[in-house]
Amino acid sequence: MVDPVRSRERMVREQIEARGVADPAVLDAMRSLPRHLFVEEAFACKAYSDGPLPIGEGQTISQPYIVARMSELLEIKPGMTVLEIGTGSGYQAAVLAHMGADVYTVERIRKLFSAARKRFSDMRLFSIKLKLDDGTMGWPEHAPYDRIIVTAGGPGVPEPLIEQLADPGRLVIPVGESRRVQRLVLVEKVDGRITPSDQGGVAFVDLVGQHGW
Ligand code: SAH
Repeated sequence: MVDPVRSRERMVREQIEARGVADPAVLDAMRSLPRHLFVEEAFACKAYSDGPLPIGEGQTISQPYIVARMSELLEIKPGMTVLEIGTGSGYQAAVLAHMGADVYTVERIRKLFSAARKRFSDMRLFSIKLKLDDGTMGWPEHAPYDRIIVTAGGPGVPEPLIEQLADPGRLVIPVGESRRVQRLVLVEKVDGRITPSDQGGVAFVDLVGQHGW
């Protein structure tokens, strides 16, 4: 592989800053984290390319730009508590942790959960807590969460996640009536009022569970 540091600088410049993501903490995280260690070895040379990549079990690590855009939409400040549904490779969780968040992440596929746990340990990302479960039920023990991010697409916003969102709080989730075609939805909770807003088209793998497909 070419120099990962240069690959990352180029990725941030051409795919992320060029498309309007400006949050310095997001850019810093994506410049710093070794994304090539979050994909299978055979795909390491493509880790900084402009798209999603397979991570096994029919799942994918999201495109760098999508990770950046969702992270920026969350408006993370250091010390915030964040819940992620869909750990996958662990890359998105690592970005949020690098931004200073206290991250709780839930994955439903055991193999991916175990691989992510090992990765976090190898990289000494000890602040990220993981759980193997159906994340559409949230993780009630640590609620409320200042921020919630769902990185798989479901038919709607799971009710338990709205309940476990702090007030004020922000949640981002891909929502679609059919599979693999979704709108990215930002849900804001302020003074008990829930306001969803459309943030554009996305294509995520399925959110599978009691409040998913
Ligand atoms: N955030 C990930 C993207 C992973 S793809 C990354 O940075 O790599 C989405 C992941 O969501 C898959 O690993 C899939 O198994 C998981 N998933 C789907 N439905 C889920 C559910 N109900 N609970 C937890 N994880 C789920």
